[in-house]
Amino acid sequence: MASSAQPRAEANIVLLGPPGAGKGTQAKRLAAQLGVPHISTGDILREAVAKGTELGRQAKAIMERGDLVPDEVVIGIVRERLAEGDCRPGFLLDGFPRTMAQAEALDEMLAGLARQALVVLDLEVPEQELLRRLTGRRVCQGCGLISHLEELGGAKQCPRCGAAMRQRDDDKPQAVSERLRVYQRQTAPLEAYYERSGRLRKLAGTGSPDAIAAQALASWQQAGSGALGNTWRP
Ligand code: AMP
Repeated sequence: MASSAQPRAEANIVLLGPPGAGKGTQAKRLAAQLGVPHISTGDILREAVAKGTELGRQAKAIMERGDLVPDEVVIGIVRERLAEGDCRPGFLLDGFPRTMAQAEALDEMLAGLARQALVVLDLEVPEQELLRRLTGRRVCQGCGLISHLEELGGAKQCPRCGAAMRQRDDDKPQAVSERLRVYQRQTAPLEAYYERSGRLRKLAGTGSPDAIAAQALASWQQAGSGALGNTWRP
C-alpha cells in the first residue's frame, strides 16, 4: 500500500441491495482491494447459530423464517465491531443497516467515532434473477464455498474440498419470499434516506462478478473524490 503524507480517505462503505443481489461476493472483493474488514451481520449471526451461543439461540428461528433479528441486537454487534482497531482505515458493511433504526444508529456511531462520510453502494437486480440465485444457492459444509445448482451440474459434493453442499434454511422458497417481502418493507426505504443525503450510488448487480466489482470500485472512487467537499455529517 502506498504511503503518503496526505491523510488517506477512509473507505467507509455500506453495500445495500436485496438478498441475492451479490453483496457477499462483492463485499469480499472490495474489502480485499481496499484493505478494510468485511463485516457481514448475516455471517456473524450464522456463526453464532453454528456455535450455539446465547445470541445464536435467540437468532436461529428468526433467521430460518426469513425475518429480521431485533434492531438492538444487530446494532450492538456492529457497534462493538466498528470500535475494533482494524476498522480505523474503514469498513465494508454487508447486510447492515436493514432498517431505518439501524441506519440512524449507524450515523450516530460514525459521528461518535469522528469518521469520514459513508458511501452507500446499492446493487440493483431484477426480482426473477434474485429468486433464481437464492433458491439455487448451495453452500459447502466444509470450506464454505458458495455455488449454484446450475454451476454444480447436479453434484452434491463440493468441487473444491469434496464436503457436502447444502441449502441454507433461509434459501428455501418460503423463507426467500419472506426475505424479499421484508426487504421491500423495511430496507428499501433506506435508498431514499441515503439518496437525500447524497450518499447513494446505484449500480447494476447483473453481469460478471468481475465487471460488477470494477464498477463498484469506480463508484466508490467517484464518490470519494466528490466526498472531499462533501460536508454531510450525521
Ligand atoms: P444475510 O446473510 O445478510 O442475508 O442475513 C441472513 C439473516 O440474518 C437475515 O435474513 C436476518 O434474519 C439476519 N440478519 C442479518 N443482518 C441483519 C440485520 N442488519 N438486521 C436484522 N437481521 C439481520
